Amino acid sequence: MRVLPLACALLGLGISSLADASTTRILNRRIERDETLAHALYALQLSGNLADAIIGALQGTDFDFRRVRPGDQFRVVCRDGQVDFFDFRQSTERQWTVRRDGDRFVGMRRAVEVEKQIATVELAIDTSLWDAAIAAGEDPDIAVALADVFAWDVDFYRDVRTHDRVRAVIEKFVSKGRLLRYGEVLAASYEGAAVGRKRVFRYELEPGRVSYFQQDGSSARKTFLKSPLKYAHITSRYGMRFHPVLKYQKAHNGVDYGTPIGTPVWAVADGTVTRAGHFGANGNLVCVRHMNAWETCYAHLSKVMVSRGQRVVQKQVIALSGNTGRSTGPHVHFALKRNGAFVNPLTQNFPRAEPLPKDKLPDFEETIAPWVRALDATPVATLAATATP
Ligand SMILES: [Zn+2]
Repeated sequence: MRVLPLACALLGLGISSLADASTTRILNRRIERDETLAHALYALQLSGNLADAIIGALQGTDFDFRRVRPGDQFRVVCRDGQVDFFDFRQSTERQWTVRRDGDRFVGMRRAVEVEKQIATVELAIDTSLWDAAIAAGEDPDIAVALADVFAWDVDFYRDVRTHDRVRAVIEKFVSKGRLLRYGEVLAASYEGAAVGRKRVFRYELEPGRVSYFQQDGSSARKTFLKSPLKYAHITSRYGMRFHPVLKYQKAHNGVDYGTPIGTPVWAVADGTVTRAGHFGANGNLVCVRHMNAWETCYAHLSKVMVSRGQRVVQKQVIALSGNTGRSTGPHVHFALKRNGAFVNPLTQNFPRAEPLPKDKLPDFEETIAPWVRALDATPVATLAATATP
């Protein structure tokens, strides 16, 4: 087999010749929009078939070329005029390297030590769950994760008040002391002025079938979610504090959620899409028919992501909020109908899903016992305050 010269000539990039032997050159690059790794490598105009050699080496690993995304980073290191090293980074956990070994290139997944920790996190709300997460030194992703497990009972756009407290037992994936991401929310409590006290616990009913339950074994889930908006990052520049909503008005046949354009709108319950498109004063509209003659509508959307007749499931993002039709500012108009007549979505009390089967209760109680203790524990801040003379 003929070995091609592994020269590191970077043509057409304004990079000077590498004839000067004892140099190391490092080229950092990001994957651009609509670009594959192969395109990005060819664009470097490495001499010979170096791009193919790197790709070939990666093919021998678990590298997934279809998962290459804009923003992924890679680096080509040239030493003494030859490509010596290539690495590709999607995240701290997802990195690959290709090294030169004589005439060959060898690819491998870079081993990153990741530790799963179980942490108790306490958030004290001043303005929003998002800000509370940042104030507690957490990544704001935790706000989205927590809003998700309380979605049947707490509307994080309407029900949040100053001095509300959230506590969670949550998995953290950590590498070298740095948080990479959160895992599952194992247990969480919400204590709030408008909401009261809510507690949810994650429990695996059988392998692969996980749900959230309340401490007494009743389901945390309901047929309908509390809010048509998936909790997302809402910056204060929109004036989104914790009273984003105009009051419910009966004549108005629904509830307005003032929210920046592009906020994800999700189906509050499983159902079938009955309308999806532009409907006069409603602007872009999605309506969904649910069981027991319920129907929900979501109006003034910027983007509709479903089509008529499509089955949707609870928490599925069906649209993005907007300001279309007869709308005086960015908001979602949310309406609820029963047997074709408008009803107030804020005063409905929807049934909970099936409780935990009786025979699972002992195991459930044993599983959640440490989490209950963690949720019950006196917050560190309170202890400190008590200790002060
Ligand atoms: Zn409205």
